[in-house]
Amino acid sequence: MAQKFEEAEERVFGNVYVCRRCNARNRTTNPENTVCRKCGYKHLRKKNQEFAG
Ligand SMILES: [Zn+2]
Repeated sequence: MAQKFEEAEERVFGNVYVCRRCNARNRTTNPENTVCRKCGYKHLRKKNQEFAG
């Protein structure tokens, strides 16, 4: 069960970007044309890049 959850998480986070201003998570497959749903900031970073620094 845990393994299935991890797979699902990976799939979800693949489309998750974090706002550089307010850290809100935004799901999108097209971050370049997406603004933060909370503050409207244009610069989002990929969620997974947290681990890479
Ligand atoms: Zn934001």
